[in-house]
Amino acid sequence: MKFEDYHISAEIKKSLAKLDFKKPTDIQYKAIPPILKGEDVLAIAQTGTGKTAAFVIPILHLLNEQKKNRKRPGIKCVVMAPTHELAIQINGVFQEIGKFSRIKTLALFGGTDQAPQIEKLSAGIDVLVATPGRLFDLRSQGHIDLHAVEILVLDEADHMLDLGFIKDIEDLIRYLPRKRQTLFFSATLNEKIKKLAYSLVHNAIRIQVSPKDPVSKNILHSLLFVEMDDKRFFLERIIGENADKKMIVFVRTKVRAERVMAAMQRVNIKTVTIHSGKDHQERAAVMKKFRAGEEMILIATDVSARGIDLPDVDLVINYDLPDVAENYVHRIGRTGRGMSKGQALSFCSTEEKGMLTEIENYMGKTIEVIELGRELYQETLDFTKNENNTTWRDIQKELDMAEAELKKKRKKKK
Ligand code: AMP
Repeated sequence: MKFEDYHISAEIKKSLAKLDFKKPTDIQYKAIPPILKGEDVLAIAQTGTGKTAAFVIPILHLLNEQKKNRKRPGIKCVVMAPTHELAIQINGVFQEIGKFSRIKTLALFGGTDQAPQIEKLSAGIDVLVATPGRLFDLRSQGHIDLHAVEILVLDEADHMLDLGFIKDIEDLIRYLPRKRQTLFFSATLNEKIKKLAYSLVHNAIRIQVSPKDPVSKNILHSLLFVEMDDKRFFLERIIGENADKKMIVFVRTKVRAERVMAAMQRVNIKTVTIHSGKDHQERAAVMKKFRAGEEMILIATDVSARGIDLPDVDLVINYDLPDVAENYVHRIGRTGRGMSKGQALSFCSTEEKGMLTEIENYMGKTIEVIELGRELYQETLDFTKNENNTTWRDIQKELDMAEAELKKKRKKKK
């Protein structure tokens, strides 16, 4: 079935055609009809499956048709998201798909000045995409009236629980009309999430996308056994051999992110980092450049990259395996999004083999191992472009100094 055949407003079909969205993805195929009918939905779907448009398309249709009939004004839909970045991203999808509609949307998040947000709110908003904290604050201050809300969306609910937003969510729900449509999206489902979900949805339609294989079929993912101290050489080589490719390199901690960036700098490879040690503005600036292709290599931690849609990422490199098995799926889901194909490669050192087993158990399948052989492995270590007689020990010293400097800076900031 094509979008052309759906019973959705012509304005929305027009923007879908512009975006080159021809056919619905699996989650869209399953979620759009019940949402259009006004049913509650409980969907288990990872980012990269097209889940945002799965709720944005029917919500825009419902509200747009309603607006044509001049129903009373007010905020009609609230979308709660765990992070600034995700709120901005979801709002972007509403604006893109709703470009020709009459629906006005706004992203609300903390860490920035309230005044411009309040000004936009007073101009009249139909859809509010917000992080729970700022939404709660502005409601308490009387800038947000939630009485007219008809649809509530919780996106990345599992991540919201991880971040400790449960109290904010529960508090906010009390201010929403009881009679409403609730759409609950989560990448994973455990007892805690189920409990939250069932306290919010009623007779929900349950949708699960590829439950047995959480990794999108569009992603080719494999693994290299690389010792910890050798990882930088392998990264250097991979970047060198994929010069025109956009990549995200995942590392375990923010300190490691800066270290890997410094190591790449030594061999004249320019990278940028994103992690929780950077403030909102810095993170937004990095994301903007990476999205625009001005920066091609982004080094990221799990926290900073969760849920973020970065189009055109050709390659994901797990420089370190994640601490939590399911994050493997989130990480490699940064590539192969929507209908496009992607590639992911993980480095696994001897110390990380236990984690590899956990990841494979979580996915219920093994990751294909690329067998290098001793010769190729050694060739990679010799491949380094560092030819100015500095030993890696010297470099290590410098890296340690850079790290100490960073720590000092952070202390000062506090
Ligand atoms: P999401 O899972 O919502 O983060 O979406 C992942 C990516 O899929 C985004 O870059 C969307 O633009 C893209 N996408 C969503 N739906 C479709 C579709 N029906 N056809 C092609 N691309 C899509």
